[in-house]
Amino acid sequence: MSRESWASSPATRNVMLGNRSTNTAPEMRLRRELHRMGLRYRVNARPLAEFNRRADIVFRPARVAVFVHGCFWHACPDHFGIPKTNVDYWSKKMNINASRDADTEARLREAGWEPIIVWEHDNPALAARSIARVVSRRRDLQSLMYRSGSFTDSIVGALDFGLASRRRHECRRHS
Ligand SMILES: [Zn+2]
Repeated sequence: MSRESWASSPATRNVMLGNRSTNTAPEMRLRRELHRMGLRYRVNARPLAEFNRRADIVFRPARVAVFVHGCFWHACPDHFGIPKTNVDYWSKKMNINASRDADTEARLREAGWEPIIVWEHDNPALAARSIARVVSRRRDLQSLMYRSGSFTDSIVGALDFGLASRRRHECRRHS
């Protein structure tokens, strides 16, 4: 099967199902990995009450929103090819999807959230591990913010440095 046919084939199926689907196979695989790691999250939830976009997996206290992107609908750079029929329709459609994705990410960042994109082709175990790292870093950050009552870049920098040196410390202790 060629790369192009692999990326184009979900098209017909997804047209029938509608653009936005939940509980897709890649999403379930990722959720299983996260659950196995002891992480708890909301599924298909709105990170921001006033913003009508849902994320596939939401870690509310850490303010991390995970989007599992299908290679077709989000035009994965490795697997997407414009279908050979209705080229105009698909180009327009894909541009709309891309600007919607960019807008969602920008809005979340503005509100102090961290959007994470996981591609359908990504290894779910590796993706879960990097999500867990971000979530735990952000949890520490939230508690620091809570104590200090403010949020500045210097706090972020200090925290990152603190975590890094703690990790180095642990490594020395174990070796
Ligand atoms: Zn892909």
